[in-house]
Amino acid sequence: LTDAEVLRLRSDFPALAAEVNGQPLAYLDSAATAQRPASVLDAEREFLLTSNAAVHRGAHTLAGLATEAFEDARATLADFLGADPDEIVWTSNATDALNLVAYAIGNASRGRGGEAARRFALSAGDEILVTEAEHHANLIPWQELAAATGATLRFIPVDDAGIYTLADAAAALTERTRIVAIGHVSNVTGFVAPVAEIAALAHERGALVVLDACQSAPHRRLNVAELGVDFLALSGHKMLGPSGIGVLWGRAELLNALPPFRTGGSMISTVTMTEASYLPAPQRFEAGTQPVSQAVALAEAVRYLDSVGLERIDARENELAQRMLAGLALIDGIRVVGPAAGVPRAGLVSFDVDGVHAHDVGQYLDAQGIAVRVGHHCAQPLHRRLGLTATTRASAYVYTTTEEVDRFLAAVALVRPYFGVTATTTTGAQA
Ligand code: PMP
Repeated sequence: LTDAEVLRLRSDFPALAAEVNGQPLAYLDSAATAQRPASVLDAEREFLLTSNAAVHRGAHTLAGLATEAFEDARATLADFLGADPDEIVWTSNATDALNLVAYAIGNASRGRGGEAARRFALSAGDEILVTEAEHHANLIPWQELAAATGATLRFIPVDDAGIYTLADAAAALTERTRIVAIGHVSNVTGFVAPVAEIAALAHERGALVVLDACQSAPHRRLNVAELGVDFLALSGHKMLGPSGIGVLWGRAELLNALPPFRTGGSMISTVTMTEASYLPAPQRFEAGTQPVSQAVALAEAVRYLDSVGLERIDARENELAQRMLAGLALIDGIRVVGPAAGVPRAGLVSFDVDGVHAHDVGQYLDAQGIAVRVGHHCAQPLHRRLGLTATTRASAYVYTTTEEVDRFLAAVALVRPYFGVTATTTTGAQA
């Protein structure tokens, strides 16, 4: 993607034309939530205007149109991941998808799901392995599962930059590891995990692999067969789609053996006053009314990403991240976390400004129309490991211009002088 192409496609994103505090908006917070192209907004509106109805039930024409649109969207997402439509479960976001897996395994561990689900059951001494860099969404559900089953939660430690190696992962796997739950791309460091390699090692020990693809699905081409994982979670709102929709992908054979997490309407085959039998996947995991217009719009977002090309998006974002790293390295008192400059990474950079709290950095940038994220980014253990309570994160996406990155760098250079901080403990150091 060239600057000229990015400038052209920006007109697809009405929200980016905003002014903030008298300045043109520089939206560098796409890792939290992305702006949506008009085609995605229009797709949702069009569906609501022409096809809105409850899906799967109802004999009327609109119900048929709604069901068709909903299932077409599922097929689009399946295609996007190199999967089968029956392996795509709609959820409300990635958090919901990860909870679904953890709680369904908890149910299997209580004996639910019968013989077929025995393979998932955890008991005392079994191990669940995560990393020290996980987003809370891929940590706390596993803490709860460990507490519910007596399993032990272990983690792959990270180094001073917040990253780990395949050797670190191999060292943390044991004969008792039953589940390995890792993030594909860190939302704090931009580190890209060696997923396929870790999955191969985990499978040698018979463990299941759960991938949090929240920060990778928006930016790089994913293929579940190549990744070699068993479950994958993503959120629509980070990939140009609506909020309120996410996806859990799982291997068909596993999904059909896993007991449901939520129960209720639309997920059953027969119900008596004392028991119920469940539909195959994906319906067995889709209890209740689903986010139908959101699914339709998410499919449109996927078409948009495909039309630009994920390989090009990924390459462009790495370039912008390298530009941020190079620029930040020239500014006194900045400590960047994550992989060293030059290492391919996602298009986000988190950093600490010596002597200035991240919230003040965020406010200073906002006054100039520059939107960044500040805080622990739902990764408190990682920040604790790095000796920081909060960082400032700038994240790029398909619509980010070089000029926005340069505006951001120029503004960051003025933060410490603005707050009157002169003593320097770090100089453009890469942590
Ligand atoms: N995992 C990662 C790596 C994330 O960045 C996020 C969003 N910040 C999530 C999980 C959770 O996503 P959601 O809030 O959409 O469920």
